[in-house]
Amino acid sequence: MHPELQAHPAYFEKDVVQLADNVYQAFGFAASNVYMIVGDDGLIIVDTTETTTAAENVLAEFRKISDLPIKTIILTHSHRDHISGASVFAAGGNPDILASDISSEDPLTDTTTHPRAAKAQMARTKRQFGIGLSYPDEIIGIGVGPGNRPLKGMGGGIMAPTRKIGEAGEKITIAGVELELVMAPGETPDHMIVWYPAKKVLISGDNFYRSFPNLYAIRGTEYRDFDTWADTLDQLMAFEPEVLAPGHTKALFGADTIRAALTDYRDAIRHVVDETRNGMDAGRTIDDLAHSVKLPPNLAEKPHLREYYGRVDFAVRAYFVGTVGWFDGNPTSLSPLSPNDEAARLIDLAGGPDAVVAAIDKARADKDYQWALQLIDRLIRVDHDADNMRQLKADVLRAHAVAQINCPTRHYYIQSAKELEAGS
Ligand SMILES: [Zn+2]
Repeated sequence: MHPELQAHPAYFEKDVVQLADNVYQAFGFAASNVYMIVGDDGLIIVDTTETTTAAENVLAEFRKISDLPIKTIILTHSHRDHISGASVFAAGGNPDILASDISSEDPLTDTTTHPRAAKAQMARTKRQFGIGLSYPDEIIGIGVGPGNRPLKGMGGGIMAPTRKIGEAGEKITIAGVELELVMAPGETPDHMIVWYPAKKVLISGDNFYRSFPNLYAIRGTEYRDFDTWADTLDQLMAFEPEVLAPGHTKALFGADTIRAALTDYRDAIRHVVDETRNGMDAGRTIDDLAHSVKLPPNLAEKPHLREYYGRVDFAVRAYFVGTVGWFDGNPTSLSPLSPNDEAARLIDLAGGPDAVVAAIDKARADKDYQWALQLIDRLIRVDHDADNMRQLKADVLRAHAVAQINCPTRHYYIQSAKELEAGS
């Protein structure tokens, strides 16, 4: 396992953190954080985790602090890891549930937004998050959340918002607490952040966390608007928060620390956009740019820009496809051979399957795992010794997973290995 990931269980240790005299963060209980603001005669909950079990655990901790009724639940965006425990916090009361008016009730199964590929997205989501992988050997964390967290009740407590907030946002007063709900499109277009001016606390959803931003999720996401996300980081800075309370990972404290971190985050996105755009203008292809665009060292070394969750090369690819579509600009790519045809011809050119198998053995010995995978795939394409090749692919995927710093990549390799071994 990558040494930096080995430090994640200690970082994600469960804790209820007091962010201001009446603001609490439940940290490490689930993939995402839950916030509680204590008002005069009631509570406000912001985000609800991905499972009813985690939500129950969080509520039990919050109940040690206050037994006031929950008046309002605010959802920062409609990703499942933030909305799935709503019914737990709503139980026994009748709280308002507020969300952006462009939020989807459940983006994974909402057939109006994903009418064609829900099954594929479910399978890919399981692989990205390593759902079902064993802790701590296979999954140590999800990059921006703990690995040892309850999975029971996943997606089980989703509730429709009782009131949707329009693009202009809204100032609300709940139990004597004055809050501003502000639209802040970033990781998703439906992001709504919560600004608590009296305490200078900004609950910022998934527009910032301790990882390079997930500008593309390998579970399969639509284009996330890079320029908009970068603009939103300026918007977050303009509040001049003293506490930045993100949807994942620890809160940041102090205006200078927060400004510096948000500036880094914005600059990292802008750097990827600029480098990719310049490369495209110079006629370079998507694969070239995915290999060549890097963060400058002063940004790449920052803990909040390590590639624990998002990846720079994934972002480059997403920007390319999101702005000009799949065609890389090279005329050769307009009508490529079918993968099976290409595999058969290359194997022939290499001297036949046995020569390719020998090259795979060498690649494995050299820990050149990506090359091994690309060769194995070609033998599987031509149905050469297919069962053994699938097992070999599983072995190589497991070996390749070891050095990965990116948790979605690591999980995707291991989960795919298990699927190959199970014959699926
Ligand atoms: Zn999230």
